[in-house]
Amino acid sequence: MDLAFLGSMDRSARIYVAGNYRLLRDALFSRLEQEGYENLIGREASAPQLTDGAAIEAFFSRTRPEYIFLVGGRSGGIGANQKFPADLMLDNLLVDCHVIDSARRYDTKKLLYLASSCAYPKLSDQPMRVESLMTGKLEPTNEPYAVAKLAGLYLCQAYRRQFETNFVSAIPANVYGPGDDFSEEDSHVVGALLRKTHEAKVLGQSHVSVWGSGLPRREFIYVQDLADACLFIMKNFDGMAPINIGVGRDWSIRELAEIIKDVVGYSGELRFDTTKPDGMPAKLLDSSELRQMGWKPRTSIREGIAATYQWFLREIKLDAEGRDDRAIL
Ligand code: GDP
Repeated sequence: MDLAFLGSMDRSARIYVAGNYRLLRDALFSRLEQEGYENLIGREASAPQLTDGAAIEAFFSRTRPEYIFLVGGRSGGIGANQKFPADLMLDNLLVDCHVIDSARRYDTKKLLYLASSCAYPKLSDQPMRVESLMTGKLEPTNEPYAVAKLAGLYLCQAYRRQFETNFVSAIPANVYGPGDDFSEEDSHVVGALLRKTHEAKVLGQSHVSVWGSGLPRREFIYVQDLADACLFIMKNFDGMAPINIGVGRDWSIRELAEIIKDVVGYSGELRFDTTKPDGMPAKLLDSSELRQMGWKPRTSIREGIAATYQWFLREIKLDAEGRDDRAIL
């Protein structure tokens, strides 16, 4: 472990949050600002197009980031993964290659790469330990995206080996929160169900359609807790193997849908549409390493979903076709 580094990211360090994954990127910028970091780079106006190698090169030569949070390329729910497998895979591969290689060439002090829990084999033992990576087949609905995330993870390790760069990686649970994508088809489950349940309440519909059997289990982490964990890891963690970031428990999709009904105040029925895919049966992370290091989440699922719903009510304007103008894809 590089003890010389730990805790030494001073308030004037040049910190770049790189990623097309807006939900986490924005939360990380806010968290860093709250902590008093003054030199944040790559915010909206000056952010380079991450799939454009020349733009990234020009950006690095101008700004020379000292610390990088690489939060990933585009992401979407199970629907987006089925409709846009090539877009999601290519975007992530390009972003990872450009940013990781530039970080090495411009002597970035430390980079944290965020992978995804879908990088684990479909039938991993629960809770999932990092030793299970690459031990089995991936879930087909998100295989291209997962392969890109695995490539990013292994690229960081390869750079560590060949160039002795201080690149670390982490695997977060399913993230949700204010600023999420609420589109019906392409978003992740929390955004999709909040929106559908809200619409059902407002339109007086008798039921909400929930994809799949309701049996799959997911671990959900509130975006501000995830941003906090990323900062903690940047300051305190070093290692070749990735570290898991989770909250330590999971919920079935049915349980999640019930919590959302409660928060929205909807009393209709949940109808499970088994023509839609379930995806991985479960993906609870073993986050004991992070817990032992002293980090824990602060937000209960009810608080997190209530805050997300409040944000949705304030910010989201649906267009005439009922589409959310902030949809990612
Ligand atoms: P995943 O964790 O990569 O599978 O991504 P998602 O967040 O898209 O889906 C999680 C689980 O929620 C899957 O089992 C889906 O079938 C289920 N689910 C239920 N209703 C919905 C919905 O309306 N949208 C999405 N995206 N998933 C849903």
